Amino acid sequence: MFQLRKPEIIPVNDHIWLLDDHHEATCYVVAGNTQAMVIDTSIGFCNIREIAESLTSLPLVLVNTHGHIDHVGGNWGFEAAYMNLADLKVAEEDYGIPRLRETIRANGLVFPPFTHVEDGHIFDLGGLELQVFYLPGHTAGEIALLDRKDRILFSGDGIVEQLWLQLPESQPVKTQIEGMERLRRYRDSFDTILHGHSDAPMGAELFDTMLDALKDLEAGNTEHDVDYEWLGHVSKAHPFQPDGRKIVYK
Ligand SMILES: [Zn+2]
Repeated sequence: MFQLRKPEIIPVNDHIWLLDDHHEATCYVVAGNTQAMVIDTSIGFCNIREIAESLTSLPLVLVNTHGHIDHVGGNWGFEAAYMNLADLKVAEEDYGIPRLRETIRANGLVFPPFTHVEDGHIFDLGGLELQVFYLPGHTAGEIALLDRKDRILFSGDGIVEQLWLQLPESQPVKTQIEGMERLRRYRDSFDTILHGHSDAPMGAELFDTMLDALKDLEAGNTEHDVDYEWLGHVSKAHPFQPDGRKIVYK
């Protein structure tokens, strides 16, 4: 077995836990009465299944918010994974990263196949339901999950302080706006956002300010935009308040 590390386990309430994997990515465990959901598995250096089983004895269902490796890397601990298959190519490409592929193979591990999840699908965990919302933008297959009981939106990389829409697999700004407008009909059902890189719960005002900023960007108000360096590339970023928040775009 390759050297595993442990995420920091931060309780959100008495049945939801945030797993912060060294500020590189964040996963969640959400327990109902009959089943528990694992949302994302980070980069693959943590045994997320083992962590989840230390928090709950309920059967686990794994859902990936999208196909990037920092969200599906630890899927090797599970037999099955739900994802919007619009991201299948992205996930397969990321699983093909040579060092990762060799490590997984050398340790006799396998990534489970993905099962498609439909927009609007409701996962019933027993006394707690999570509804799937397609939110294409960051990737084509990005989803958010709404937990009305806890008034939490799990938003993956779709609603974050620094939204990346500049990747080759990213969708147009307009598409992100359309997805958020559909979600906005449920805006009075959540007041907390837990995203794919959170180290603490954050207020749902991020949703509102980001949607305003996206519309501002789409309207062409780019005079205050700045250069943004990422992984050896430079793209443009549209800042919004408070400081540090931005939308990176093509
Ligand atoms: Zn991502």
